[in-house]
Amino acid sequence: MSAGGEGALTVTVRMKVSPEPEQEEAVLELLRRYRDALNYSVRVIIANRALSLSKAHRLLYKDLRERYGLPSATTNGLSMWLKKEQGYRVKGDRVELAWGYGLRVIGYDRRYDDFPNREARLVFREGEFTLYVTKRVPRPAKYAPKGVLAVDVNEGQVVVGNSRVEQRIETPVERALRYRRLAERLQGKYSFSRYRAWLRRSGIRRRVRHFHRKAKNIIEDWARKTAHTIISLAKQGQLAVAREDLTGLVESLRRLPKEHRTALIALGYRRLGFWIDWQAEKNGVPILVVEPAGTSSTCPRCGAELVEVGHRRLRCPSCGLEADRDTIAILNIERRALSKMGGSLATPTAPQMTDVNPNRWGEPPHL
Ligand SMILES: [Zn+2]
Repeated sequence: MSAGGEGALTVTVRMKVSPEPEQEEAVLELLRRYRDALNYSVRVIIANRALSLSKAHRLLYKDLRERYGLPSATTNGLSMWLKKEQGYRVKGDRVELAWGYGLRVIGYDRRYDDFPNREARLVFREGEFTLYVTKRVPRPAKYAPKGVLAVDVNEGQVVVGNSRVEQRIETPVERALRYRRLAERLQGKYSFSRYRAWLRRSGIRRRVRHFHRKAKNIIEDWARKTAHTIISLAKQGQLAVAREDLTGLVESLRRLPKEHRTALIALGYRRLGFWIDWQAEKNGVPILVVEPAGTSSTCPRCGAELVEVGHRRLRCPSCGLEADRDTIAILNIERRALSKMGGSLATPTAPQMTDVNPNRWGEPPHL
């Protein structure tokens, strides 16, 4: 899923599909043949030193078709790319594959029905088939924002809000960490040299990989859903989303010793940033990136240096404002974003936010 050229976006529509029960094994066999075809291709490429992709393509096309009866395609595990028309066709609630197999469409997001299907990828993962169909859609125009929704992240939570509202969303770092630790324990347990050969053959490696993937998926799902919540709230209130420039933060985390927790936090930040930007693009929500320096140490009301008065609590010695560190950050990010937008900030109002119910927005609306 990536942004397209000018005026257009490439979106991916995820379709849950299911082969006819009597064809399921045949479809799986097709996916396996694709994987074999890829492995074969890689060997040919290496043997012929055909390093350029177009050269490799020319070299392989005829061979693959003859050997495997397949149009040219790339594979990745049990997944394959399908060219539109030649590879697949969506007809009502059915997907027809070029090899005569039919898939039932169980459900998908119909928002982009009016736009033609482009290439697609059929994936078989954890017992389920999914068809990812790409489409080009016009890039929506960004609305003129009525205010700012600031986003602040720390390792435990994401805080979203402005001087009127605030919502806190927990990060799943601890949950993801459990899987990383399971993977590590398993790896450690079988890493003695006498186990090594056996390990290579056994399912242990697969299980280790499975745990690592699980940790990553937890972070990815969270980042996507959290971005969706944030963008929905912004759209609902016609607000611009303001976030800190996290490049420096991610970089500094990368320099720390390779510890699982740090790595997961950095991954979470990066993925959340990615999904916020992407969802904003898709929904026409304006985005502002502000300087992060000092957002949780200066007074959002008068600019004075804050002093710590308790765990994560700060107080302004000059004007008396007292709030939680994250609330301070939200107010500062909002303020910086507003001034970037050219908004009037002569007398910013920064009410005490200690009584704000974090869930006052309730469940986010669906876009
Ligand atoms: Zn102050």
